Amino acid sequence: MADPQLRPRYSGVATFFRTPLRDDAKGVDIGVVGIPFDGGVTNRTGARHGPRAVREQTTLVRRYNQATGVGPFDLVKVADLGDAWLEQPYELAGALDEIHAFFANVHAAGTVPLSVGGDHSVTLPILRAFAREGPIGMVHIDAHCDTGDDYLGSRFHHGAPFRRAVEEGLLDPKRVIQIGIRGSLNHPDMWKFSHDSGMRVVYMEEFTDKGWRWAAEEARKVVGTGPAYLSFDVDGLDPVFAPGTGTPESGGLSMIEAQRLIRELGGLDLIGGDVVEVSPPFDPSGLTAQNAASVLFEILCVLALAIQKRKG
Ligand code: MN
Ligand code: MN
Repeated sequence: MADPQLRPRYSGVATFFRTPLRDDAKGVDIGVVGIPFDGGVTNRTGARHGPRAVREQTTLVRRYNQATGVGPFDLVKVADLGDAWLEQPYELAGALDEIHAFFANVHAAGTVPLSVGGDHSVTLPILRAFAREGPIGMVHIDAHCDTGDDYLGSRFHHGAPFRRAVEEGLLDPKRVIQIGIRGSLNHPDMWKFSHDSGMRVVYMEEFTDKGWRWAAEEARKVVGTGPAYLSFDVDGLDPVFAPGTGTPESGGLSMIEAQRLIRELGGLDLIGGDVVEVSPPFDPSGLTAQNAASVLFEILCVLALAIQKRKG
C-alpha cells in the first residue's frame, strides 16, 4: 500500500491521478502541474479553481487506458508537482513571468509538463519555457483560435496567447492546427491572424462533416515529426459535456470524439500538454471537471508514448 494508486480511489489526500506529490521535478518524466490563475479571462471567471476540482476528479482515474492498452504509470515516472501558484496574481504580465519561472525549472529538470489551468493565457509562459530551442508545432483543441490582438488595453489575455507565441517565435504557425472553432464573433475577421500566418483552422462544420479520424490524420499531417505541444481548452467540448467554463459555445466536440482524436495523436513527438478553462463555479455537478480529468488522462497516455519513443 506504499503506492497511493493501490489504495481505494476515494481515500487519501487528492493529488493528480493519486501520484506522489513532489516539490522537485528531478527524475520525474511527466510532471502534472496546477495553475490556479484566471487573470487573463475576458468573460466569466473561476478557472483559478480549476486545478483543485480536476485533481479531485483525477483520483477516480484507474491505471490503464482500456481503449489503447497504454499504462502511463508503467511506462514513465509521473508525479504531481503541485501548483504554480503566484505571489502577485493580480498583476497580469508579472503573473505570466512567475508561471514562466516555475516551468523553466520543470524544463531544466528534463520533465515533460502536463498542466491544468487556469485560463488559456497560461499556455504562453509554458511555451516560453519549453520552446526555447526554436518554434514548435501545436495541436490546439478549442472553440476559439485565441489568436486575437490587444483587448481593452491588454496585450495578454486568454484570447491572444497563440498570436503572442507566434510573434515571440515560440510556435511555427505552419505546424499549428486548431480544431473545434465556432461561435459568434466580435468582427468577421476575428481569427484573421490564424489564417494569415498559415495555421490550419478546422471549424466545427468541417469537423462534423469529416469526423475525428480525419481530424487526427490532418493533425498528424500539419504537425509532422518535429516537437509539438497539445493544448486542450474545455470549451472545445460541447457545453453538454463542459458547461463549467468561462466562454461556452454551443455545437462542440463530444467526449468520445475528443478521446478518440487524442488517442490518434500517440505517434507525435509531444513535449507537453495542458487542459485549461475549467471553471468550477459554473460546474455545479462537477461534470466539466470529470471530463477534463478524462481528457487529461488521454493526454497523459500520448505524452507517455512520446517519451517512450524518444528514449528508444
Ligand atoms: Mn482557449
Ligand atoms: Mn476557448
